[in-house]
Amino acid sequence: MELKNCPFCGSAADIYDNCSNVADEFWAQCQNKENCFAIGTAEPSFDSAVKAWNSRQIEDTLRARLEAAEAYIQAMEDRESVEAQPECFPDEEAYEQSQDDAFHAVCKAREAWEKAKGNGRI
Ligand SMILES: [Zn+2]
Repeated sequence: MELKNCPFCGSAADIYDNCSNVADEFWAQCQNKENCFAIGTAEPSFDSAVKAWNSRQIEDTLRARLEAAEAYIQAMEDRESVEAQPECFPDEEAYEQSQDDAFHAVCKAREAWEKAKGNGRI
């Protein structure tokens, strides 16, 4: 499992442990130690320390929203492109089918966008 970079400064991070024989603790720490002091939570295993450090709920939520918004915009642009170029289709039927397909793609992308927005909470 790859360790993500620091969520605050973007620098590389590494996993440390307390080398205890009694109760092992592992944590991730930003390597930009002169300017950033980000340290992950203490975890009972290496893997759980990586998982905790890599957990970016807000970032993941915002990325999903961004991807849905970009897909929605792309679907609208694709539809505009179809509408603007009827001469690019071999016949009226093909043009109408492409219009329908583009319309449904926009509807589907809008539904995904509405779902990604959720109730406004992050
Ligand atoms: Zn950092």
